[in-house]
Amino acid sequence: MTTSVSRSPSELLSDELLRRAPKVLLHDHLDGGLRPLTVIELAAQTGYDALPTSDEQELSRWFVEAANSGSLERYLETFAHTVGVMQTHDALVRVAAECAADLASDGVVYAEIRYAPELHVSGGLELPQVVEAVNEGFREGERRAADAGHHIRVGALLTAMRHAARSMEIAELAVRYRDEGVVGFDIAGAEAGYPPTRHLDAFEYLQRENAHFTIHAGEGFGLPSIWQAIQWCGADRLGHGVRIIDDITVGPDGDATLGRLAAYVRDKRIPLEMCPTSNVMTGAAKSIEDHPIGLLRKLYFRVTVNTDNRLMSGTSMTQEFVKLAEAFDYDLRDFQWFTVNAMKSAFIPFDERLALINEVIKPGYAALATDR
Ligand SMILES: [Zn+2]
Repeated sequence: MTTSVSRSPSELLSDELLRRAPKVLLHDHLDGGLRPLTVIELAAQTGYDALPTSDEQELSRWFVEAANSGSLERYLETFAHTVGVMQTHDALVRVAAECAADLASDGVVYAEIRYAPELHVSGGLELPQVVEAVNEGFREGERRAADAGHHIRVGALLTAMRHAARSMEIAELAVRYRDEGVVGFDIAGAEAGYPPTRHLDAFEYLQRENAHFTIHAGEGFGLPSIWQAIQWCGADRLGHGVRIIDDITVGPDGDATLGRLAAYVRDKRIPLEMCPTSNVMTGAAKSIEDHPIGLLRKLYFRVTVNTDNRLMSGTSMTQEFVKLAEAFDYDLRDFQWFTVNAMKSAFIPFDERLALINEVIKPGYAALATDR
């Protein structure tokens, strides 16, 4: 299937070509990316009886419809089901292994997958057991992917919930496991009413430990949230950050003027973890065509492309690239730029990022360009 009718045949990017393109994913939730069949099988195995249906196709549709319904209650229900079946060691290993394998077969070569350990303890697991189970799953998934001829490296980000009070504990957990598969920390949950400054002690602790963190900011709430995340909390990256557009004025001649915060974000090369389909579903952007990513890419912000919740958004990295190619006429050079941006912004050491850029990403795009 071709993705655009406006370009000459030689310029068309097929879904298959974009699937083969090396991709880097920095913002993806483990509990938002389960296979529908896995949800059904784990529910049966663990005695979870609240699923709306046990038909795979129907459940798959139900997740996307509920997440897209505009009702917060239904949206939250989707995560109640996925988290509900992720309360045992074996379930966490399986979900993490399938996550790594699915991303690898979608052409993702490096991923940072986040989850909130505190949401997986109702079956009796302790926080460290949750982290160890997920790490075990990621290693298993990496092996399975390699056996299938796809190479992927997966790092974990530990998320603390904004409305809860366990961020310090989770930050300590991230530091404890930093040499064993955990690459950073995040906070997530409702933005309005729960500013990141509620968790300052956790962020200050991480900074003293020379650890990395990202903060969900500028999705449901505007510039103050972004400003606090960067200037009060010291976030290395912004989860979404779409509302930075509120600090940019585009004149009638098309020239953009940046406010001080937007200029700071661009000058400091602060990575924006943008999730186009998810942002449209939550109302942070009107449509893919209207998504701020178009302008921010033109202005050379450090923009990255991400999936957020693959199950609820019915998406994948390839699908995000396909939609962007259609909306903005992007070509392989643009997708390589997004991918290199993401790799530069990863939380693994500099030399390892560089090796992936020079030995995997750039040669991968060069091979695609000559293939076509
Ligand atoms: Zn997110």
